[in-house]
Amino acid sequence: MAVPDKSTPRPTVKAALEAERYRLLVESVRDYAIFLLDSTGHIISWNIGAQNLKGYTKTDILGQHFSIFYPKKDLDAGKPARELVDAIKHGRIEDEDWRVRKDGSRFWANVVITALFDADGKHVGFAKVTRDVTDRKQQADRLLRANHKLEAQRAELERLNTIKDEFVSLASHQLRTPATGVKQFLGLLLQGYAGPLTEQQFDYIQKAYDSNDRQIDMVNSLLHTAQLDAGKVVLRHETSDIDSLVGDVIDETVDTFKRRCQTLTYEKHAGVIEAAVDPLRLRMVLENLIDNASKYTPDGGKIHVTLARQDDFVVITIADSGVGIHADDMPKLYEKFSRIPNALSDSVGGSGLGLYWAAEIIKLHGGTISVESAPQAGSTFEVRLPLHPQKKGAVR
Ligand code: ADP
Repeated sequence: MAVPDKSTPRPTVKAALEAERYRLLVESVRDYAIFLLDSTGHIISWNIGAQNLKGYTKTDILGQHFSIFYPKKDLDAGKPARELVDAIKHGRIEDEDWRVRKDGSRFWANVVITALFDADGKHVGFAKVTRDVTDRKQQADRLLRANHKLEAQRAELERLNTIKDEFVSLASHQLRTPATGVKQFLGLLLQGYAGPLTEQQFDYIQKAYDSNDRQIDMVNSLLHTAQLDAGKVVLRHETSDIDSLVGDVIDETVDTFKRRCQTLTYEKHAGVIEAAVDPLRLRMVLENLIDNASKYTPDGGKIHVTLARQDDFVVITIADSGVGIHADDMPKLYEKFSRIPNALSDSVGGSGLGLYWAAEIIKLHGGTISVESAPQAGSTFEVRLPLHPQKKGAVR
């Protein structure tokens, strides 16, 4: 009988039992391939999970080199040997890649190889745990493909959108010039430059003038929106007297109000309010809001405009006694092309672009627009602009 080497401590009964229990536990794991390799990569243990996953029985596989599980391209690239070297160097490695079963089929594996050392630090082998994560990989691939497809669709939509913006911009320019010519000549006729008109002639020409005016408004709205969406709007800030700016807009609209027998009143803040705004664009915003107030108020109604300064803000309100807006419609108010039907919307016409454009321009100024309204109780729009806007918010 061989004499036991005194330098090697003999395992206690308890430790031997624990090792056996551990071995049985590993052997019974079904979902993970768990096996040991010797220091050269030959297989020295095999569990039921490994058999299920890779198709080899214990008898088939014990003593074989673990590189048997790698596809040819990995073998040619020396991957198995490299992974063992890396596992020794770093203690463990984790890899996700294709592996091959006994029947030649492939599965996507998550592999962890842990280098094993004895008590003296001598390398004695490897523990290898492999999981089949093909389902997860297929799902991830599907997501990736869907993502690529979406990305391609987004790029295409962006391209089409740019083409659309350019087309709208070009078409609007081309439409605006002749329409403006018509407006000028109809205006001359109405003012009597071509001789006196009968009442009926005047009436017809006035109708043609109004239709043409609406057409120009529509073309302008399209053009301005296309410029805005193309990021081509750069505000030109100028220190402006807001009172005279509001006053000018009101003066220009007097005729419209007269024709609709509407009363427009203006209550201004005492003293000068100067603010750095883009005067041209702010004027257009106010024209839009005052025009809406008139459009959506029946003949004979009232529109009241106020101007005030509150701390570092200039506040302009436009209140009307018109049809009002239902609470449910509020979220759509500033959306592009959003016309909200009401008792007057059919007769007055519009593009649904005015408030969208106005709100964006106010935003570029660093300001806000809000409204208080209820059906049949009129609407009050409030525009609040900083007196000294931050330049960074002004350019788009
Ligand atoms: P448009 O007037 O061309 O339809 P806007 O963008 O200016 O487009 O307005 C969007 C919608 O908001 C309008 O269709 C209208 O229903 C509603 N609206 C705007 N201003 C008022 C107002 N002062 N009173 C009632 N409804 C209004």
